[in-house]
Amino acid sequence: MPTTRPDPVMLPKKPMSGTSLSSHSSRADFFSESVIREMTRHALAHNAINLAQGFPDFPCPPELKAAACAALNDDFNQYAITWGAQDFREAIARKAKAYNGMAFNPETEITVTCGSTEAMMASMLALISPGDEVIVPEPFYENYGPDAVISGAVPRYVPLGDGATIDEEAWKAAFTDRTRAIIINTPNNPTGKVFSRDELRFIADLCREHDVIAITDEIYEHILYDGNRHVSMGSLPGMEDRTVTIGSLSKTYSVTGWRVGYALADAGLSGRIRKIHDFLTVGAPAPLQHAAVAALSLPASYYRELARDYDRRRKILYEGLATAGFDCRLPQGAYYIFTDISGFGMTDVAFARHLIETVGVAAVPGSSFCHDGGATKLRFTFSKKDETLHEACRRLEHLG
Ligand code: PLP
Repeated sequence: MPTTRPDPVMLPKKPMSGTSLSSHSSRADFFSESVIREMTRHALAHNAINLAQGFPDFPCPPELKAAACAALNDDFNQYAITWGAQDFREAIARKAKAYNGMAFNPETEITVTCGSTEAMMASMLALISPGDEVIVPEPFYENYGPDAVISGAVPRYVPLGDGATIDEEAWKAAFTDRTRAIIINTPNNPTGKVFSRDELRFIADLCREHDVIAITDEIYEHILYDGNRHVSMGSLPGMEDRTVTIGSLSKTYSVTGWRVGYALADAGLSGRIRKIHDFLTVGAPAPLQHAAVAALSLPASYYRELARDYDRRRKILYEGLATAGFDCRLPQGAYYIFTDISGFGMTDVAFARHLIETVGVAAVPGSSFCHDGGATKLRFTFSKKDETLHEACRRLEHLG
């Protein structure tokens, strides 16, 4: 586990130490390994409860398991069409219309990918030229940093802000004549912020004014609390042909290991994304794409129960963290609590190490979500069984 981590986003002038610029330097030298995944390995080594990585420790819906077994037995075991199995693309089109209010042609505007991770990487590689500026609201999901480096984008950060609404002046100032894209993640990881329709309208106006593409990561679109509603940027007037909407089965159906996600965009943007996707991965797992049709056929009650169950888990973790002395707020969406740790007198990385090794609970250092700063923050996930969360809270009571 590192005590300091290299800046994941700003391209340093020299590669990280231990590499030789003379013969072997590559873009991989300009960002670090995922701290989130590293925390998971460290948690395993110390038998700590893993509240670092956002994956459920409870089973996925039985309908999905049955559909996956059936797909394997029915011999959907060869490559699917590179941009996705037709029945799955058709199911995604129906879902995007009904839930997100957006119309996509499954033949030309939907690309099935290996999770939203690949959808984001493929979109950035397809739509950004090296040197283009990309606006990244901060704190951000840690993958966007390496995504920017790999695609050659120059990131410009804009504060997400702690308040209820965004700082419009700061956002206006981030748009320049070199801006090519903006990344929006709503509901947000790590803060739990859910962008309101008015905020998205404001950002959409800036995108149109500056001819900018919005790449929106909506992986937590069904995990919302306290009456918050999900709005897709691509559903706003004038954004149809300048938005890439990214989604995934990972969080909504508790199948992070399936690696099935998608990118939705008009035919022009999709054509470019499909080319990159084809040469990156050829396609997402074929049997699981067929099984995914069953996921998208679950009744409305499934989504109500998903949000209700996460609301209960959210409150268990919040109570436990507050009792242990963390300064935190209930998130509006997604399944993380981003806490302030200033009161504990340790930096994020040292404190994360202390929690794993001494208390037996893993979290992610806040600096993983910021290009600069975040050392007073830690992120905990509550995507775990009630009993896992209760045990983590019990351990945190002994935080000394
Ligand atoms: N986007 C966000 C905001 C996430 O929080 C995560 C996982 O934690 C991902 C993408 C990764 O999604 P997938 O499993 O679909 O690749």
